[in-house]
Amino acid sequence: MCKGPKQVLILGGGFAGVYTARYLAKLLRPDEASITLINRENYWVYQPMLPEVISGSIGLTNVVSPIRRLCPRSNLIMREVENIDLKGQIVTVSPGFRPRQLQLKYDHLVIALGNITNFHGMPGLIENAMPFRTLADAMVLRNHVIHALEEADVEEDPELRRRLLTFVVGGGGFSGVEVMAELNDFVRSVKRNYLRLRDEPHRCVIVQAGDRILPEMSEPLAMFAQRILRERGIDIILNDRLKAATSERAILQSGAEIPCKTLISTVPSALPQAVQKLDCSKERGKLLVNAHLELKDYEGKVWALGDCACITTAAGTKVPPTAQHAIREAITAAINIAAAVRGGNQAEFNFEGLGTLGSLGHGAAVAQIGSVTVSGLLAWLLWRGVYLMKMPGLNRKIRIAADWLRHLLFPPELAQTKVAFDSGIHNQHFEPGDIIFEQGDLGDSVYVIEEGECEVLCKRKGQRELLATLSGGECFGEMALLSHRTRNATIRARTAMNVLIIPKGDFDKLRQSVPIFGDVFTELAQRRAEAGSPHSSVDPGMPTGGSRGNSNEAVLFRR
Ligand SMILES: Cc1cc2nc3c(=O)[nH]c(=O)nc-3n(C[C@H](O)[C@H](O)[C@H](O)COP(=O)(O)OP(=O)(O)OC[C@H]3O[C@@H](n4cnc5c(N)ncnc54)[C@H](O)[C@@H]3O)c2cc1C
Repeated sequence: MCKGPKQVLILGGGFAGVYTARYLAKLLRPDEASITLINRENYWVYQPMLPEVISGSIGLTNVVSPIRRLCPRSNLIMREVENIDLKGQIVTVSPGFRPRQLQLKYDHLVIALGNITNFHGMPGLIENAMPFRTLADAMVLRNHVIHALEEADVEEDPELRRRLLTFVVGGGGFSGVEVMAELNDFVRSVKRNYLRLRDEPHRCVIVQAGDRILPEMSEPLAMFAQRILRERGIDIILNDRLKAATSERAILQSGAEIPCKTLISTVPSALPQAVQKLDCSKERGKLLVNAHLELKDYEGKVWALGDCACITTAAGTKVPPTAQHAIREAITAAINIAAAVRGGNQAEFNFEGLGTLGSLGHGAAVAQIGSVTVSGLLAWLLWRGVYLMKMPGLNRKIRIAADWLRHLLFPPELAQTKVAFDSGIHNQHFEPGDIIFEQGDLGDSVYVIEEGECEVLCKRKGQRELLATLSGGECFGEMALLSHRTRNATIRARTAMNVLIIPKGDFDKLRQSVPIFGDVFTELAQRRAEAGSPHSSVDPGMPTGGSRGNSNEAVLFRR
């Protein structure tokens, strides 16, 4: 019999995973257990404070903590968990610099992979809605909001300026409300730095499926929060939900549309791929565990906790996906793993929650602790005090407190942290009637239709003429890029449409590196030019063989 330490593998470095590793390190000696934690980042994210990154009231790196310092006794593997083989007791993780997967055998496994935002079945949300869970999400959103303000400041078209100054959040739970409260505060306070936006109104909208926001709280507190947010100018649309989106607007279930350039969605959620693939007991997709947090049929070997697990307390209450529960679940799991390694009593999960706290930004919050409810400034101070105390490590506590003080004394930071210079090849969704580009626009991308149809329209003698209809597999937009001219036709979606967009930079790189790719487009452009529009060329292509056009010239490009 092998006498070495037991191999304990923890998947996920969020609240549940990190706290399990920390408690296990207290309960088991190194000769009893070797603890390995796998996470895709080398830091742990303090999600309750993540919305404060938007306004800059907490610095980017102060809202996270390095896992190596939080869990000094654990081996950290910063990779992606790709597969969990429960029967073989092997976890496969993604390749790193060396293109080889890593396989790790375990004696005891903790699955704490949290959940992800899933926009499946909601056209255009993947391309246009921003999730809000990770540090990267918070950075992207903050940069995007600053970008929208910069653009609004130079934009002459009042309609586009309004869209740039409209911010929509789908989901009126804690995270949606906190994100919008911070975003609204930030925009309000930095607008004065933009000469042309000072007197321009901005619009913030929360779309919530239920008949009130904050379903996690009692009705009077939710009503208080609703009133405060509305007084600050935030629109709250109830009994409706996001259905689809384009780069120009959010489309709701009711058919209402909100023209906007910023759309954030905090719902709906799904389980990470590695958990979805698991063939074991589940409820609503989550891993079903017993009162000891053990996975059915794998008792004593596998524990699941945090947002990816379906847990019922000893008293029969379904456990909500919150940080305070994840921390208590971690304690229960650590005790039970220690019992499995060296024997002893098992613990049951019976934590019923201490209460709920939600920040409304700008010195207001709502709090419910047992039967006591608090709102306004007192609740806000409580919120800050509680979450500051819960942040592990004196170092981080001091940094956050210093950030809050700085934020109180000075205006918010407005510098944009540009991390990506090129958006790269990407997908986009258009709804019927959307303009993809206008005649006269600069040519900045080539488009390939994946699904749906669009119309090629050309303005001649003041009249818009329909030249052609293009459909799946056809492309358009290459001529303006190749001839360095402006677009000489307008493209309008005829049906809902999914398009692959190749920006100019990528198009040029591909043409240079793969000459055959460039030849296809050069030939296509020539044929289209020879087809003879009044302007010698119609950029999106004259009617094609596969298209229903009103011209007998046929030029077809199919992928
Ligand atoms: C914006 C926001 C605000 C919130 N505010 C509060 C609040 O005020 N109070 C409260 O109690 N709760 C709050 N929550 C909820 C709380 O943060 C979660 O319930 C808690 O984080 C769940 O912990 P977890 O460990 O299960 O998951 P997570 O903290 O999400 O951790 C999962 C970890 O697994 C990693 N991971 C996932 N898949 C893989 C993979 N395949 N390979 C490698 N690593 C992977 C992730 O990167 C992540 O680090 C908030 C959540 C959000 C998003």
